[in-house]
Amino acid sequence: MTLFPMFMKLEGRSCLVVGAGTVGEPKISSLIEAGASVRVVALHATAAVAEWARSEAITWEARNFNSTDLNGTFLVIAATNSRDLNAAIFREAGQRNILCNVVDDPQFCDFYYPAVVPRGDLQIAISTNGQSPALAQRIRRELEIQFGPEYGKWLKELGQTRQQLFANKIEPEQRRRLLHELASREAFKKLQAAELNTEDSSLEKTFMTGKVYLVGAGPGDPELLTLKALRLLKSADVVLHDDLVSPEVLAFIPSSTEVQNVGKRFGQKRIGQSEIHALMVQNALLGLQVVRLKSGDPLIFGRAGEEMEALRNAGIEFEIVPGVTAAFGAAANAKIPLTHRQVSSAVVLVTGHHAATDEFADWPAKIPHDATVVVYMPGYDYRSTAQQLLRAGVPGSTPCAIVSQATSSNEQVHVTTVEDLHTSPRLPSPTLLVVGEVLRLAEPVALSQQFGWPSEFASSGSTLAASQERAE
Ligand code: SAH
Repeated sequence: MTLFPMFMKLEGRSCLVVGAGTVGEPKISSLIEAGASVRVVALHATAAVAEWARSEAITWEARNFNSTDLNGTFLVIAATNSRDLNAAIFREAGQRNILCNVVDDPQFCDFYYPAVVPRGDLQIAISTNGQSPALAQRIRRELEIQFGPEYGKWLKELGQTRQQLFANKIEPEQRRRLLHELASREAFKKLQAAELNTEDSSLEKTFMTGKVYLVGAGPGDPELLTLKALRLLKSADVVLHDDLVSPEVLAFIPSSTEVQNVGKRFGQKRIGQSEIHALMVQNALLGLQVVRLKSGDPLIFGRAGEEMEALRNAGIEFEIVPGVTAAFGAAANAKIPLTHRQVSSAVVLVTGHHAATDEFADWPAKIPHDATVVVYMPGYDYRSTAQQLLRAGVPGSTPCAIVSQATSSNEQVHVTTVEDLHTSPRLPSPTLLVVGEVLRLAEPVALSQQFGWPSEFASSGSTLAASQERAE
């Protein structure tokens, strides 16, 4: 005969225990725990049972059993020291369709108590159908080691996270994947590791909801990090960074922190954007502090908008920590004033990246004459970039500079004009292109000599003086 395994709700059900000695006591206790309405009939009771009766956790009638005690009973446990009485209770209960268990007497049982590993709402029950209680005990001991008491707390947290995910706008498929990953052994290990890493840690603390910080790492020079970024890098549980973040910045992260490069190099995608979203959400749901580290400033060409939306949909708290965007780093090092009272009144940041299609991303139809344009991700198709600039109304004579690996020790700058841009060398990536009259004000003597500019560019003094006169 195969047993039917089930976990039963006993809350409020009338359950009778006959006998309240050392055999009956643990059964009474487990019925109380399950919220059953427990009646005990027994001449004598252990001190614990008497105390439960006194505190009204149960009712205890100190007398012999009689069959009317079964009236209105859902389930009865016979735990007297009389085998005959126990058998009689079983028979009577059977006639009246009341479930009965005679303790330690399998032939008089409608159901058995399994060996249980209790971990809060996680209960692992083992039955051998009476074939080998010893085996059941061994398996129980092994499971106790494998699933320690912390599993109860973790399960509670998983339950809350699940509710949180259902209450938010997250995609069902992503939710399903997240819930599976959160329940994984790796997730549990990670939590335990994070707990060990946190000073003054208690399980409670690491089980708090996590947070994601979208942090700007600046263009490369580690001294351009903000103090806040530095603090967060040192205290994060997990850092998810882009390819372009410089090794010097990554070196600030303690070796015990989990660090993952989620960068997508142009042309050879490794981790998709939706996987990045899932990683952020998953780690935050685990209660971890996540730093999503982006080169430059997180809000400039860094897909921060999509990441913020994913975090909002999952109900995850997040914060943005600005960084020095590549244009500002490059301009500072090459001493290019991006705006100038006489020469440039606007800065236009555009991207030359043509990832999915071979088309450039949309630019403003018309770029004002007095704007400085910075092209991020210009690539090496300089001819198309120049055409694009000309189409947007930028004169061919406008100076432009390709800045390679700005702010790093390998920084290189090549200066030319829009019409000559196509003759430029391929400098090592990352590069960006600065276009605008303001370039005539940048280290002008050296640049004009090096690239053979017309002599009137050679002296910024005269150019500047002339434009100042016009302005006045
Ligand atoms: N969020 C970043 C931009 C990411 S897009 C920021 O604010 O800077 C990536 C592009 O930024 C690169 O293709 C390149 O055009 C530019 N870039 C980033 N770091 C750079 C660096 N050190 N030197 C030159 N260009 C850089």
